[in-house]
Amino acid sequence: MGKTTGFLEYPRRKTPWRDPLERTLDYYEINTPPDKKHLKAQGARCMDCGVPFCESDHGCPIDNLIPEWNDLVYRGRWKEALDRLSKTNNFPEFTGRTCPAPCEGACVLGINEPAVTIKSIENAIVDVGFENGWIQPQQPAFRTNKSVAIVGSGPAGLAAADQLNKLGHQVSVFEREDRIGGLLMYGIPNMKLSKSVVNRRTKLLEDSGISFYTNVDVGNDLSAEEIMKKYDAILLATGAILPRDLDIPGRELNNVYFAMEFLTAHTKSLLNSTLTDNSYINAKDKAVIVIGGGDTGTDCIATAIRHGCKSLVNMELLPKPPLERDSNNPWPLWPNILRTDYGHQESIERFGVDPREYELSSNLFVDDGDSKVSGLKTQSIKWIKKNGQWKMDCIKGTEKLWEADLILLAMGFTGPEKDLPDQLGVDFNQKENIDTPLGSFATSRSGVFTAGDCRRGQSLVVWAIKEGRGAALAIDKYLGG
Ligand SMILES: Cc1cc2nc3c(=O)[nH]c(=O)nc-3n(C[C@H](O)[C@H](O)[C@H](O)COP(=O)(O)OP(=O)(O)OC[C@H]3O[C@@H](n4cnc5c(N)ncnc54)[C@H](O)[C@@H]3O)c2cc1C
Ligand code: SF4
Repeated sequence: MGKTTGFLEYPRRKTPWRDPLERTLDYYEINTPPDKKHLKAQGARCMDCGVPFCESDHGCPIDNLIPEWNDLVYRGRWKEALDRLSKTNNFPEFTGRTCPAPCEGACVLGINEPAVTIKSIENAIVDVGFENGWIQPQQPAFRTNKSVAIVGSGPAGLAAADQLNKLGHQVSVFEREDRIGGLLMYGIPNMKLSKSVVNRRTKLLEDSGISFYTNVDVGNDLSAEEIMKKYDAILLATGAILPRDLDIPGRELNNVYFAMEFLTAHTKSLLNSTLTDNSYINAKDKAVIVIGGGDTGTDCIATAIRHGCKSLVNMELLPKPPLERDSNNPWPLWPNILRTDYGHQESIERFGVDPREYELSSNLFVDDGDSKVSGLKTQSIKWIKKNGQWKMDCIKGTEKLWEADLILLAMGFTGPEKDLPDQLGVDFNQKENIDTPLGSFATSRSGVFTAGDCRRGQSLVVWAIKEGRGAALAIDKYLGG
């Protein structure tokens, strides 16, 4: 612990985002560059607790050595901080930009003061590392002559590829999209995670000896049995991208889309043509309703605002979260509190009101007479506990019609696609995810492993990295250690 009184002297201050109104005029990252002096003071706030809960089960899933690098940043020893960070996290530039930071929810200082700004410090360490050229491709010292095929290039597949390559195995990553990155590329928008940041890491991995194959849909372009024959082990890291639908009257109308249709087409068009090819769903001048919150809903809001939408409403089935932790949600659990994310902030600045409307049930998409949506009918609900179970009760007389020219469904995901696992004869569990025994990454078929959202359900980037690292260890053991 560098400065014993740091947490008494300095208030918490995150690395600021760019001004909300200014940043909605472009698609560049919302983050501002790291300011070393500011981060030194923030690093000094870490108390180096005897039991660092930020690293516990409730904190960072990949066990980042947080107090150690906080201290090194306070002392200005950035290169050593990067070395410590790289021990546990393959891609701090991804988590530093996208992680909701469960570590901060479990920070001991957070019991009675605002937590240490761990995520900002993590992001700064890796950005300073890149700026100084400290992060370079690393070919393994030897090769094992064992080969591994990884299906899916999201954070789980990439983390596993990095770990297996370092162990000397020959790794090939297959991706059916035209670019590498999974949801890092075509889910999370450019303003939250620049695609140049994703490409920079892909290039490093390629230069370290990993082979990437895009536009290959394994199971169609390359059969499951072919890949089984050619490689010593297979990792399925295919994500959980089947969207949850809203099966109410009018669902077939035009201009009702899944969030991922909207976000993927937008990013592709942005990268291919800076949106000049018009191959995206344009929200310009439209009354937009986003149904569902979470990261996906926020990303839809932020994208629609940048297109120049006329109005924006974000509907939630759940109640508005409290401003402070409830008594049944104590430290160090993840705080279930109201968070105003970048998209909400931008919407408030642009339209002068918070876009979020809570406890609304959607009943009907309204037809404009030309098979296009023109509105949404809703009813307010309240949640009541019956026999220990939460149930939704509709409130009479609260029916409401909302204007809408574009409705985006961001209500989560139901699980992974089944085609490829079925071809491989791999079992699913009751949650419809690919089944593995507890604590294992091996599927029901020998030599086939799985990691990431297709194993644990739609989750977080940091969990996908953890899964990829775990699966890599299991595969290495299977291949002889
Ligand atoms: C819109 C959105 C925003 C999000 N924002 C955040 C955030 O801010 N912070 C956060 O922590 N998490 C966020 N998440 C969640 C996070 O992105 C995922 O948990 C994470 O990407 C899962 O990683 P993965 O590697 O398991 O799968 P994915 O990232 O889904 O990658 C799977 C890849 O496999 C490919 N694939 C599938 N089948 C095949 C096949 N047969 N052949 C070849 N390739 C195949 C897919 O094309 C895809 O590229 C967000 C998710 C979404 C949808
Ligand atoms: S990866 Fe996420 S949980 Fe871990 S230290 Fe970084 S911000 Fe915190």
